[in-house]
Amino acid sequence: MHSRAPKGRSFLAGGMILAALSGCGGGRTAPPVTPTAPATAGSATSVELPATETFDRAISRGTRTKTGAPGPRYWQQWTEYRLQAELNPISKRLTGQGSLTYHNRSPDTLAEVYVQLLHNIFAPNARHNTDVPWSVEGVELSRVAAQGQELKPSEKDAVGYQVDGTIMRIRLPRPLAPGESLPLDFSWKLRIPPDGAPRGGQDGEAFYINYWYPQMAVYDDVNGWQIDQYLGNAEFYMGYGNYDVALTLPEGWLVTATGRLTNPNDVLSPQTRARVDSATRAPGIVHVVTEADRSAGTSTTRGSNGKLTWRFRADTVRDVSWATSAKYLWDATNAAVGDANGDGKPDTTAINAFYRPELRASHWDQSARYSRHSVEFFSRFIMPYKYPHMTAVDGPTSCGGMEYPMMTCIGGQWDTLGLYEVTTHEIGHMWFPMMVGSDEKRFAWMDEGLTQFDQSQSMDDFFKGFDDEERNRQNYMGFAESGGEVELMHHGDRYPNYGAYGVAAYYKPATILVALRGVLGRDTFNKAYREYATRWLFKHPSPLDFFNTFNDVSGQDLSWFWRTWFYETWTLDEAIDTVATAGDSLEIVVQNRERALMPVKLVVTRSGGQVDSLDVPGTIWLNGERRRTIRVPREPAVTRIEIDPEREFPDIDHSNQVWPR
Ligand SMILES: [Zn+2]
Repeated sequence: MHSRAPKGRSFLAGGMILAALSGCGGGRTAPPVTPTAPATAGSATSVELPATETFDRAISRGTRTKTGAPGPRYWQQWTEYRLQAELNPISKRLTGQGSLTYHNRSPDTLAEVYVQLLHNIFAPNARHNTDVPWSVEGVELSRVAAQGQELKPSEKDAVGYQVDGTIMRIRLPRPLAPGESLPLDFSWKLRIPPDGAPRGGQDGEAFYINYWYPQMAVYDDVNGWQIDQYLGNAEFYMGYGNYDVALTLPEGWLVTATGRLTNPNDVLSPQTRARVDSATRAPGIVHVVTEADRSAGTSTTRGSNGKLTWRFRADTVRDVSWATSAKYLWDATNAAVGDANGDGKPDTTAINAFYRPELRASHWDQSARYSRHSVEFFSRFIMPYKYPHMTAVDGPTSCGGMEYPMMTCIGGQWDTLGLYEVTTHEIGHMWFPMMVGSDEKRFAWMDEGLTQFDQSQSMDDFFKGFDDEERNRQNYMGFAESGGEVELMHHGDRYPNYGAYGVAAYYKPATILVALRGVLGRDTFNKAYREYATRWLFKHPSPLDFFNTFNDVSGQDLSWFWRTWFYETWTLDEAIDTVATAGDSLEIVVQNRERALMPVKLVVTRSGGQVDSLDVPGTIWLNGERRRTIRVPREPAVTRIEIDPEREFPDIDHSNQVWPR
């Protein structure tokens, strides 16, 4: 999801309210750092991270490791989905049927399973912590079956199902043993919400259909079932699977979805098919459907009874969403992604943009170009894009910018900078959390923070030197100084307000990744970042897997860094305290005035232009030391001393980092 930076009002998106939440973590005081080594001067190199019994247990069971790589006994669940739906754009009603096969790859016997009904956020009396202006009806289930047996709503512990908000619990007729598969069948109806609904919906012309089918909740090796409610603010945790999807719409309505279209001959006209085909090779943008083409028989084929059924196949995805409109234009091209399938040859992916003609005013005619650059950039920067297409869709305003596998829904008005920014941000999410499937609800930084950082890298490349990192840093530091900060290791639905969530999810993690790059050097940072993505491709990493991978690849114990920036709200204030001559030397006293632990990057400039760089490691502060004296030769005369002149670290007061003042 895209976060609009704070400008005056209380942070972003239309008055999001989190006040109803209890047990918020604002304003906690930081405990002292606990060195793990004996507290003799200069000996401590490590600090304790808060105990994680569940992760330790996963290590002892061999599903995780201390190096950050998945363990030899790592497992995750898998689901095969066969879904069909018909949408009536007049009544806005969707009728769906689904047959799921859930494969229990865990070592555990499951007497019950959990299914997400995320659309129930629109049910009457639903709990939510964001504005949901439309609260009329949730998912109307007309059939639930498991293991071939029809199920009814039941009391707890009786065979049957119970729906609690967005989570459905199914007590199975027979327990599901390790290695067994579970057939589940559902029939349902739901109504597509109007503009104003979070992350999708319809505005009468464009329909973005999200969270529209019963979806297995995640059962993982660290925490078991993750059945946190969808309340609107915090995002999602989804398992991987394959999907066969059949979508029935009126003829003349273009449909785009997660996955490959498997029946183009049935639904696309010969003209459209030829243009799509040419776009797979074209160096430029192909206008597949123009204003003049938008009709049944020209853009689409003609259907029977005025309807067409579009079939899609999506492999190894965590969700499927789709969009449709009779008004869409369709631009297409292709992007070079490197060797995505491991056969040693370069691969390409299809790039699409679907938008209404009036959205040219918001630069949607540039969308395919922006998407192509983003996919190509992230494929180089992180790892090759693995999916068959990337498609940007103009949707209802309240989409803002929202990511789905292979898809993004973008709503509202944009200038060129803004449209590139939101497009590249959502495309960045194809890596985190779509291909690297973290728990966005409990650890928003693993998805939004990494993506906000990635967005800065692609913006720098596209706009040649545009400093988005500085914008993130200003957003973080401004909020940190206000005193309302909450640590990153905090459930996304338990921040006291959207400002604290936005900083912890987006701007602070993006900023401290820049700082980590400053600590490790760009090459080591990039290597560790890519290693994390590659190790956890199509898997479920936890924060410790991220931390441990960086420790492993860099060969350093970075626990002081993780503790400072992820578990605490300590700020950084490194200063040049005094500078004095002592014989042939100049004694520079650097001081750590706040609680954050960081290296000191000291740059000494001399008359004649000689520049010396001195790096003092961050671990020197671990024993509680606040000052460190650094001696440098007095001659040639020192004209300037500065800490961190490249501003890699988010220091709250740069003025005390320069000598002479
Ligand atoms: Zn995002």
